[in-house]
Amino acid sequence: MMKTPFVTKAQVDEMIKKYPTPFHLYDEKGIRENARKLYQAFSWNKGFKEFFAVKATPNPTILRILKEEGCGTDCSSLTELMMSDKLGFTGDEIMFSSNDTPAEEFILAKKLGATINLDDFTHIDFLEKTAGIPEKICCRYNPGGTFSISTTIMDNPGDAKYGMTKDQIIEAYRILKGKGVKRFGMHAFLASNTVTNDYYPVLARTLFEVAVEIKEKTGVKLDFINLSGGVGVPYTPDKEPNDILAIGEGVRKVYEEILVPAGMGDVALYTELGRFMLAPYGHLITTAIHEKHTHKEYIGVDACAVNLMRPAMYGAYHHITVLGKENEPCDHKYDVTGSLCENNDKFAIDRMLPKIDMGDVLAIHDTGAHGFAMGYNYNGKLKSAEVLLCEDGSTKLIRRAETPDDYFATLDGFWDVDLNVK
Ligand SMILES: *Cc1c(COP(=O)(O)O)cnc(C)c1O
Repeated sequence: MMKTPFVTKAQVDEMIKKYPTPFHLYDEKGIRENARKLYQAFSWNKGFKEFFAVKATPNPTILRILKEEGCGTDCSSLTELMMSDKLGFTGDEIMFSSNDTPAEEFILAKKLGATINLDDFTHIDFLEKTAGIPEKICCRYNPGGTFSISTTIMDNPGDAKYGMTKDQIIEAYRILKGKGVKRFGMHAFLASNTVTNDYYPVLARTLFEVAVEIKEKTGVKLDFINLSGGVGVPYTPDKEPNDILAIGEGVRKVYEEILVPAGMGDVALYTELGRFMLAPYGHLITTAIHEKHTHKEYIGVDACAVNLMRPAMYGAYHHITVLGKENEPCDHKYDVTGSLCENNDKFAIDRMLPKIDMGDVLAIHDTGAHGFAMGYNYNGKLKSAEVLLCEDGSTKLIRRAETPDDYFATLDGFWDVDLNVK
């Protein structure tokens, strides 16, 4: 697959007059079309709902767009719950899929009527003592071992800190039923960033079989099953994107094979996608400001790992387009770097790109999820602005860039007193 940006150089040149680089740019049209396709893929399931994983892109404007497309939110912290509440997501529109959860977060989740997803068996007790047991509850499952699709190992649930074992989850439903819970759900997240149409169907089979077992052993009939996140995107140009319609159809087959005959043909399916909903619809826009010729050829840009951490953190590949040079030969080998005093601050290593001149603007692809959101302030660097490319082609600043005042804001009084007074 050729990876092409969702903006042209001419469009970006206009934007840069208003918003200096670096900034994160989001494509409203792409976000909406993709969300509609997800709903189409699961339209066979009455009650289907996507709860967008707020941590992927915690921007109110983005969340509002997704709300208009029928999505709820998936939160895992106090501030994510607060943002959802402020945006008018209520009760059943909020999943609270946290782990190692502080009491105050359970208390707020319960107050908002969010669906609390218990990560651990011991949390039943903790929840009862802190917030009280709600009428509706979800439990998170971890089967252990490895998660494989045919013979390929996709991920290692046995090493993951999340979820309960099968014995624990069955016992959890039994106890929760005894405590008066009326509505139940089950959740599992067993593999991350899968680029295969088989992940959800294989996951669904595992969960549906356990759901039938839960019903047989405890009498608890689940109201919903949450397939969570993990449907990925092709970061590299050699991969084919997931076909969400094929994924929905694959899950439908397993649903009809396992749940329908067990008298569970009314179980609602939920998803909690982050990356799939947003990653391809974001670019980090950055300008080349230095070139360095030493033991390697370096291009220094005005963004750094503070704006996009995935390459530094995971060695992740993010495709780069030099805007306006889309059709020029990639005959130069570069490391594209940021300015942190950390040698892992490289957006690309040994990447073949067109010849880059100072002032060229680069679009770093697939930064719409887990991009801005993972930002931090190392080296005293400031977080960038976020800009929305609206459906009508206009642009809107949906988060301003940080200023030094923001950086110093938590040092109460630092600028107000003269520290040099003896
Ligand atoms: C991170 C996360 C998601 C979203 O994962 P993606 O890979 O972005 O789809 C969903 N649910 C939970 C509980 C998560 O922690």
